[in-house]
Amino acid sequence: MQEKLSVVVPCYNEQEALPIFYEEIAKVAASMNELEWEFVFVNDGSKDNTLDIVQTLRKHDNRVHYISFSRNFGKEAAIYAGLKKAKGEYVVLMDADLQDPPSLLGEMYYTIRKEGYDCVATRRVTREGEPLIRSFFAKCFYHLINQISKTEFVDGARDFRLMKRQMVDAILELTEYNRFTKGIFSWVGFKVKWLEYVNVQRVAGETKWSFWKLLLYSFEGIVAFTTAPLALASVFGFVFCFIALLLIILIILRTILFGDPTTGWPSLVCIISLIGGVQLFCIGILGQYLARTYLETKNRPIFIVKEEE
Ligand code: UDP
Ligand code: MG
Repeated sequence: MQEKLSVVVPCYNEQEALPIFYEEIAKVAASMNELEWEFVFVNDGSKDNTLDIVQTLRKHDNRVHYISFSRNFGKEAAIYAGLKKAKGEYVVLMDADLQDPPSLLGEMYYTIRKEGYDCVATRRVTREGEPLIRSFFAKCFYHLINQISKTEFVDGARDFRLMKRQMVDAILELTEYNRFTKGIFSWVGFKVKWLEYVNVQRVAGETKWSFWKLLLYSFEGIVAFTTAPLALASVFGFVFCFIALLLIILIILRTILFGDPTTGWPSLVCIISLIGGVQLFCIGILGQYLARTYLETKNRPIFIVKEEE
């Protein structure tokens, strides 16, 4: 029997890119006809004609399936929905903008078949076409999170990856609401091979990630995959106690030797502000974890489907 490969594509306002994407992927599908193909498009509450385009594709090609959300739930939710809908023994995740070259699919599939991997993932080795400051912050983020989290995060890793059914099922078992997919992929383990490729620019449309969105997303990742920041309060507490102890001894000695214990209120103000700041900072971190816990305990669905086929 023919094995099935499902291509899962999250789409948010991709009316320009989708037709080009479909054309390209259909070409690759035709060249790999030992597989049965399935295309799962997830319309993540697009405000343009993305859904119409997907429906038209569906009319002409019954390998096309789609899910349409009731609103924009974010790429993470779209990935989850798509993986859930995919029926293939192999599943590949791809962006609609052709930044994930379909030409790599053959190599990815044969690597899994012949070399016994569970997953072939991709990472881009250049960040061409990206603002320098963004690359810099991305580097810092990966460095930091790898220092403080046990889960491994690979710099430049894309969501573009081909997985075996077993790994997909493992990912679907993680039903958390705050989904940091890059971490989830790594957390489930399995034997992963990394393919490297040079960054490709979007064919059409524009990126949905502003700098600000990326920054918030990186906090999401840290909070989701390590509790290390929670220990900061204890570290600060310890350091300040130690410094305070030294100061107390110093002041007692000074008073005994020179008298006049009342000078020095400017330094007092500085110390109070500093400690106040550190306390607020630590409460803020606590708040981040509390907020995530709050959201998780609500147990809301990850996405809501308006229509699917
Ligand atoms: N996407 C989505 N929901 C969102 C934002 C993005 O489904 O809320 C999809 C988008 O349509 C694309 C993929 O996620 O297929 C990657 O988005 P984008 O190209 O904007 O990200 P970048 O490649 O710039 O990181
Ligand atoms: Mg893109």
